[in-house]
Amino acid sequence: MLSVKDLDVRYGQFRAVRDVSLEVQQGETIALIGANGAGKSTMLRAIAGALPIHSGTLSFKHRTMTHLPSCDRVKHGLSLVPEGRRLFAEMTIEENLLLGKSVNRSGDWDLDRVFETFPNLVKRRHAKAGSLSGGEQQATAIGRSLMSNPELLILDEVSLGLSPLVVDQVYASIETLRETGTTIILVEQALDRAITFAKRAICMLEGRIVLDKPTENTNRDEITQAYFGLQENAPQEVS
Ligand code: ATP
Repeated sequence: MLSVKDLDVRYGQFRAVRDVSLEVQQGETIALIGANGAGKSTMLRAIAGALPIHSGTLSFKHRTMTHLPSCDRVKHGLSLVPEGRRLFAEMTIEENLLLGKSVNRSGDWDLDRVFETFPNLVKRRHAKAGSLSGGEQQATAIGRSLMSNPELLILDEVSLGLSPLVVDQVYASIETLRETGTTIILVEQALDRAITFAKRAICMLEGRIVLDKPTENTNRDEITQAYFGLQENAPQEVS
């Protein structure tokens, strides 16, 4: 579904993502893991078209999209829920959701289904997004993406700033998406939750992928080592 080859994304001279290659099959659920500054958001934003790609190629459903604007990627079914949600604060929940519909992709998602998936939004549907709690904002941001009927949904920092109860609710909704066959890539700092939910874990360190494995073939220790750049067989320092 998604093929990324030798991706390089830069801020000025700084290479935030270096030579990353990645293949994603339809229906996969992937947890993208890595310390602050590892390059996760940069890679995901480049995949979604929110940042330019310096070099490398990106194709989605066998179409090359390396330099396609983000709005066109959404039209083809690739949608990002960005870190920080990026809602329009002066618009209501409903208006924010309807923006997702504006790409006119056919599919089952409409306002009713989003409100069914996130019942906590129903009473607040006419409230301005700027007045919402973190959980309501996250639900609205996910709902806005769903309104575009995505085939690949990318969620950056899915549970950041949410209470444990709200995180459970958000994951329950994402679980229903998985069951409908939506391909999901999510960034999750809570390692246990990430590896419990996702079938594949990808860990980034300093702009590179340092681990990419099915979650059933890895464990917390191996991921933690990759996360911190520790190698099991690294020579011990002699004091
Ligand atoms: P976090 O969990 O903190 O969001 P991340 O893994 O998503 O981390 P990125 O936000 O992609 O990491 O950042 C990767 C690197 O790029 C970091 O060194 C960061 O300081 C740098 N960076 C991010 N955004 C910019 C920017 N707008 N200008 C310059 N450098 C940036």
